[in-house]
Amino acid sequence: MVGGRRSGLIVASNRLPVVVAPAANGDYTLTRGGGGLITALLPVLRNRGGIWVGWPGICGEPPGLDRLLESAGREAGYGLQAVTLNEDEERKFYQGFSNEIVWPLFHDLHSLCTFDPSYWQTYQTVNRRYAEVLARNCTDGDFVWVHDYHLMNVAQELHAIGVHAKTAFFLHIPFPSVDIFTKLPWRFQVLHALLEYDLIGFQTLRDRRNFLDCVRHLMKDVTLHGRGQQVVTVTGPSHQVRVGNFPISIDFNDFVKRAAAAEVSARVQELKALLPEHQLILGVDRLDYTKGIPERLAAFRHALRHYPELHERVTLIQVVVPSRADIPEYNSLKTQIEGLVGEINGEFTRPGGWVPIHYAYRNLTRLDLLAYYRTAQIALVTPLKDGMNLVAKEYCACSIEEDSTLILSEFAGAAAELQRGALLVNPYDVEGVADAIYHAYAMPKRERRARMRRLRRTIREHDIFWWVDSFLRAAIAKDLSAFPAPRDYVPSTDEPELLPF
Ligand code: UDP
Repeated sequence: MVGGRRSGLIVASNRLPVVVAPAANGDYTLTRGGGGLITALLPVLRNRGGIWVGWPGICGEPPGLDRLLESAGREAGYGLQAVTLNEDEERKFYQGFSNEIVWPLFHDLHSLCTFDPSYWQTYQTVNRRYAEVLARNCTDGDFVWVHDYHLMNVAQELHAIGVHAKTAFFLHIPFPSVDIFTKLPWRFQVLHALLEYDLIGFQTLRDRRNFLDCVRHLMKDVTLHGRGQQVVTVTGPSHQVRVGNFPISIDFNDFVKRAAAAEVSARVQELKALLPEHQLILGVDRLDYTKGIPERLAAFRHALRHYPELHERVTLIQVVVPSRADIPEYNSLKTQIEGLVGEINGEFTRPGGWVPIHYAYRNLTRLDLLAYYRTAQIALVTPLKDGMNLVAKEYCACSIEEDSTLILSEFAGAAAELQRGALLVNPYDVEGVADAIYHAYAMPKRERRARMRRLRRTIREHDIFWWVDSFLRAAIAKDLSAFPAPRDYVPSTDEPELLPF
């Protein structure tokens, strides 16, 4: 027991599920974060008792932080424990190793990596700090669930300080192929660290296969059992690790309920009235080079050039959500996107009339996001590479009339589950994406409905609660061969049944 608490779930992620920010009066305010992960873990944390460990979003140690977190934790129903970082640590750990090395490398963009050795030093220091905070708050009977690429070393650091609670790791981003992973100067250290977890979860079979290939190629004395099962076991000299794929999802029913709310319906009517006789095409992405926004705009331009019947009949709403503004690549990407939007609007806008792209660079309110999801007949989700892509799933959940089409990159993790209802595209293929836009525009209503119904059924059956449950069951199951592999989400090796063309 720690502080009178029975053994339970301890979650660690880069950020706490609350945001601490300075207030005007010199004090600090605390707002609760939203998002599917928090919603899904909440019942487990409350029922089993638990703690969330993470960085509070502000450098240094704001006075009164512990008190603030304690009262927020009491309200939330689980404990909140802060990991404190100074500015240099935050820069080299978060911006540096996490987002200038692991993020681009794991998204196959090694040319964007800055392999600065001081980033690796700080990454290790900060992971150790997380482990120390965890060690103060957990017992060997607890289950420690670590999230994402910022914290790959935590299990190793926990073992080094004598904590032997069960540990699991879920990677929210893709895992690269062996040819790309081997470019990492600290490839052996990272693989060794990952293999200290008891369970490692990936989004897709492709990520899991890439990881196991790396283990086979780069590690000595490891054997693999259970090939072909949903969860396999890697046995090293001193430790056994379970490795599986568990595609993350959304709270489907909550999106449906909120999309159907009266204020959203009113906003949908307003949007439709603003652009009558138009099909709206929606793109919603964080500003990130992995999202393929310039490639998408080039494909939209190609569609307008080659299918004149789209003129004055389709409007692209491209929302770009500000992100990682301190990293130089992100600013030049913004300039590139805005240049392309200007060029395309310059080429096709009809004075006093149709503007083909409506561009917004800001965070949307929840109301606007839900209204856009519901109003758009077509969603263009075309990342160059993406762990999952929740926008694709949220869009389908909010398509409550089931009368819309998802155009989806085959390199989004979501393609593994959604390939049979979406129009799958290669985001680098400007002509192919342009054809898909036209195909979606001209698609008969019956086909649209059949595809969207299928997509929504898949997401409803495999929602965020299913994801948490299947991950935790994989961690505790005695017999992995008996572990029920959910049927629907393993990507098929067949050609998609409904080929776009
Ligand atoms: N989103 C948001 N603010 C916005 C628009 C979208 O918070 O203005 C949310 C959206 O609802 C989704 C998330 O951002 O849950 C994006 O997740 P996704 O997996 O698509 O991409 P990521 O940004 O995590 O790479």
